[in-house]
Amino acid sequence: MALVENTYFQCLIVTMTQLSVWEKESFFAPADIIIVGSGLVGLWSAYYLKKKAPGLNITIVERGLIPTGASTRNAGFACFGTLTELLSGVKEMGEDQMLELTELRFKGLKKISKVFKDEEIGLERNGGYELIASADSNELRSFIDTFNRLLKKITGKQKIFRLQNEKLGRFGFAGIQHLIGNSWEAQLHSGKLCMALLRLVQSMGITVLNNIEITGYEKVHGQVLLHSRQAPPLLSSQLLVTTNAFARELLPQLDVVPARGQVIVTSPIDNLLFKGTFHFNEGFYYFRNLGDRVLLGGARNKAFEEETTSEMSLSQTIQHELERFLGEVILPGRHYTIEHRWSGIMGMGGEKMPILRAVNDHVFCAVRMSGMGVALAPVVGEKIATLMTDDAAPDSSKV
Ligand SMILES: Cc1cc2nc3c(=O)[nH]c(=O)nc-3n(C[C@H](O)[C@H](O)[C@H](O)COP(=O)(O)OP(=O)(O)OC[C@H]3O[C@@H](n4cnc5c(N)ncnc54)[C@H](O)[C@@H]3O)c2cc1C
Repeated sequence: MALVENTYFQCLIVTMTQLSVWEKESFFAPADIIIVGSGLVGLWSAYYLKKKAPGLNITIVERGLIPTGASTRNAGFACFGTLTELLSGVKEMGEDQMLELTELRFKGLKKISKVFKDEEIGLERNGGYELIASADSNELRSFIDTFNRLLKKITGKQKIFRLQNEKLGRFGFAGIQHLIGNSWEAQLHSGKLCMALLRLVQSMGITVLNNIEITGYEKVHGQVLLHSRQAPPLLSSQLLVTTNAFARELLPQLDVVPARGQVIVTSPIDNLLFKGTFHFNEGFYYFRNLGDRVLLGGARNKAFEEETTSEMSLSQTIQHELERFLGEVILPGRHYTIEHRWSGIMGMGGEKMPILRAVNDHVFCAVRMSGMGVALAPVVGEKIATLMTDDAAPDSSKV
């Protein structure tokens, strides 16, 4: 143990002596809080931490050149849940928890609009729809009524979901019997949202360091020392882990597993017949218009095991399935090519609720955003900021 400590401190001294005094006292100066991961959760957490305690020195450390998990690789749905997803949520976690989660997402969407103008983040309020291949109409109406009643307390709207089968012919989908509309749902530009958040937190005085992968941390004299291969050890009073799907690399005890999501985007389509965000099969398939192109993602349910991975690559199984669904259901008889393909990694687990807690006195985590983190991230960020600043203001005894 003593040998390990000696070696460690030697490494520290060697690395630190290669730095200028300016670097040591600025970029790598001890922080009050270091956030690991600059996805939406890391960025929103930084924003709320700084808002609550402007005197805090906060550094965000990101291993990618840009955020490289889910936040810049998602589908850009500003959504809070479809009827079949909420129904399956009730079965999985009970009505109360399903409503709690839906409320968090709904509040999150409102927060995004409070902080950013629509045009800054490419937010378009085109509404959302769920496609149902086949269902008994009366049963569907009764589910819609039940969920409208349940969600009224959250959304303030009498009828958040409406059966809108009259639009089916206009949209040109094949093999779909019902369409449930949600006029509240919107779409945004995920790249613009992340860039706007990055600019915002940097304008608030937060330091963002990229290309640094934190490989471990330890407690040293009541502080947290973070290790990486790219930078000197970074010292902080508190550590917040917001690495989502990759959380177990630093906190192996957490119930978080990676889940890959794959996406394709078509070429521009003449006279595209629909606008908005669309979900199918409990949200396992999702598509939207992207101007006059179509973005389609999902189908993870066709190969759960294969897609339980943090490898950011594409698989034949899912790519073929997405192309099949696009051609047979969304754009039957239309001409297009696939111009873009990518994947991103979500953080899932045994439950859909995010993990938001203190791991110990100095270490906190806000991870497991599942498949709807765009909406969740601002609320999760605000909640973790409250937890950390309750007794962590710079003039308090902890910092
Ligand atoms: C294909 C796809 C489509 C999706 N579509 C939608 C959608 O339309 N609407 C919606 O609400 N949600 C969607 N989601 C989910 C949503 O994108 C995520 O829930 C959300 O972005 C999670 O944000 P995060 O900050 O928790 O995680 P991430 O964005 O994954 O951020 C974690 C960051 O931590 C960094 N990191 C990891 N390990 C380390 C380390 N050791 N050191 C330093 N940095 C590290 C990563 O590089 C990454 O930038 C989608 C996800 C995917 C993959």
